[in-house]
Amino acid sequence: MKSKRFGRFTASVLIVMIAILLFAGCGSENRYESVGSQQAGSAENDRRSESAQKALDQDVSDGYLILVNKDQANHLSASYEPSDLERVKYVAEDRSPAGWSMRHKAAEQFNLMSEDAAKEGLDVVVTTAYRSYDFQTQLFNSYVAQKGEEEANKTSARPGESEHQTGLAADLSTSEINYANSSAFGDTKAGKWVAENCWKYGFIIRFPEGMDSITGYSYEPWHIRYVGDTAAKEIHDSGITLEEYIKENKLGNSIPADARASASDAEVSEGGN
Ligand SMILES: [Zn+2]
Repeated sequence: MKSKRFGRFTASVLIVMIAILLFAGCGSENRYESVGSQQAGSAENDRRSESAQKALDQDVSDGYLILVNKDQANHLSASYEPSDLERVKYVAEDRSPAGWSMRHKAAEQFNLMSEDAAKEGLDVVVTTAYRSYDFQTQLFNSYVAQKGEEEANKTSARPGESEHQTGLAADLSTSEINYANSSAFGDTKAGKWVAENCWKYGFIIRFPEGMDSITGYSYEPWHIRYVGDTAAKEIHDSGITLEEYIKENKLGNSIPADARASASDAEVSEGGN
């Protein structure tokens, strides 16, 4: 009797478990389809207002959605330099002035963000923003000398692979950590404020926690990237990476033909490591 009842009980538990697994399976499959399918793309566009779409189109044509990362297809040539660089107003004075510029719009939006943070009693400054190809070469080589190439490449980019060369990225810090470039920035009052509010100024936290396999970098709470208002809001709301956003919206990497790294650039940069 006992074993028979136990058997029935086990059978019902199994049926319930199978049902749960089936439903869970369906759910994840649907989620996957809604991310990857053509219809999802148009649903995404339906949700986006006409003015937001117009702003996104403009941002794409202004080059603010440029994708630069470790993928060879997304590397910049040694000679690429944005034409509208200007100094940001709020910087860590002990760093090289060679890194205090951003593209005009990004600089303007950073200044505004830093001023709004100051109203809350927080200081948010740039340590380095724009880095030329040569600047990046020196920086990467110094990291390699300190910790070896593999370690260096987890948080630092090889020349041509760094979006600092686009003039749209900035490393931030604050007085609370003595203006260090450190993951501790994420735990400071200023760092938390930036994580919560930077999208309102068109910025994203470019390398979020746990996304290394997509972005190629460990969590960098200090590194922000200008992408414009529409993309920043949508990336913030959905919690995806820039790589995924660009793929879902079929935007391509937006690297101008004359700014693409050639195969010989790649050899030079490999040789330089
Ligand atoms: Zn950075």
